[in-house]
Amino acid sequence: MFDHLDELYRDVILDHFKSQKYKGELPGATITVDGANPLCGDELTYRLIVAKGVITRMRFAGKGCAISQAAAAMLAGQLEGKSVAEAGRLIEALKALMQGKEPDASVDVGDLEALAGVRKFPVRVKCAALSWNVVERGLKEQAT
Ligand code: ZN
Repeated sequence: MFDHLDELYRDVILDHFKSQKYKGELPGATITVDGANPLCGDELTYRLIVAKGVITRMRFAGKGCAISQAAAAMLAGQLEGKSVAEAGRLIEALKALMQGKEPDASVDVGDLEALAGVRKFPVRVKCAALSWNVVERGLKEQAT
């Protein structure tokens, strides 16, 4: 799909990287979960408000490479307003996408499709996957 490293940084990824829309604190968060990708130095903390099984708001704080921070913003954009069950399906679809498999056709991954280009670069896959790995853990911890 993408043949050059430069194309990792497609406009859509850079736009999300620069966006502040989903960054910041979230008073009243019901889930706070963080994680890091030490290979690259990416750090991410998500704060979510989950009410009646729906992710009503989602914000993140973090630092690291453009891929990691863009992925964090994209994921927040996709998951806000979704149910926890839908979030789980989206995360599974993203994992499939990164493994080069056909994701579940009924799941709309939205802008996150732009990240599919990084799967050619295994080191970068960890940057992108940090976001959904962190969210997945947060949602699971909350469920227990
Ligand atoms: Zn990174």
